[in-house]
Amino acid sequence: MEAILRFSVLSSGSSGNATYLEAGGRGLLVDAGLSCRRLRGLLGRIGCDLTDVSAVLLTHGHADHTSGVRSFLREREVPVYAAPGVAEDVEGAAPVDAGEHLDLGGDVSVTFFEVPHDAPTYGLRVSDGERVSALATDLGEVGPETLRLLRGADAVVLESNHDPDWLRRGPYSADLKQRVASARGHLSNQQAAEAACALAPHGLKDLVLAHLSKTNNSPARACGTVRKALKGAGHTGVRVRAAIAGHPTPWIEVGEPIESREEYVYRYGEAGVRLFDLE
Ligand SMILES: [Zn+2]
Ligand SMILES: [Zn+2]
Repeated sequence: MEAILRFSVLSSGSSGNATYLEAGGRGLLVDAGLSCRRLRGLLGRIGCDLTDVSAVLLTHGHADHTSGVRSFLREREVPVYAAPGVAEDVEGAAPVDAGEHLDLGGDVSVTFFEVPHDAPTYGLRVSDGERVSALATDLGEVGPETLRLLRGADAVVLESNHDPDWLRRGPYSADLKQRVASARGHLSNQQAAEAACALAPHGLKDLVLAHLSKTNNSPARACGTVRKALKGAGHTGVRVRAAIAGHPTPWIEVGEPIESREEYVYRYGEAGVRLFDLE
């Protein structure tokens, strides 16, 4: 296992969420919203296995983030740290307070922070003492407090759930549209773009847009909206990509200088399948 701080979003969206992160030689699984068998397969795609996971972190209790955790824990007995409202439901899970620093050995620390969503939900910030990555996927808005906790991270995984026009014109019921768009629902591409512009001057190098709706968004739409806003505000130094369902993102090495990556083309596995154009 590499000592550097790096991660891959294994799968993202309402069909199941999981991110694998390596820090200080430890493997952390953030959310387990897919079956253990699927998690093993996705980890295999980035050269890892279930045995690499040394702790599980759960952001909130929605099934798309937790449905696989019990089957995972039957295979791997590792500590689970969870937001309130999940910890009670998962045997052996340790509830964590917002703002509490979890010391995971070495210089690795994890801090949870609350975000506005329709269940008690955490974002998190992981540091290896040198680099910082942060993740906030299910949230209705990025307020000043959330921005403060994302600021300074080299790499951020941020929800970019829907295009507001697509949501408005789309097939969801009026109730569901309202829920998604509410301040306790899910972030739009525009909201993600605003947050990106606020974070760009503070050292952000990699932004991974996550939890994209299959119905009300597309990777090209989400990336396009955020890139355009960044460019318009004069921020050219941020790599923007989208995480999707069922395909791990390439490894993102946190803090990697901008120059060293040539182009943002996704290549999954050895076949180098190009799923969609990101320029
Ligand atoms: Zn979710
Ligand atoms: Zn949720």
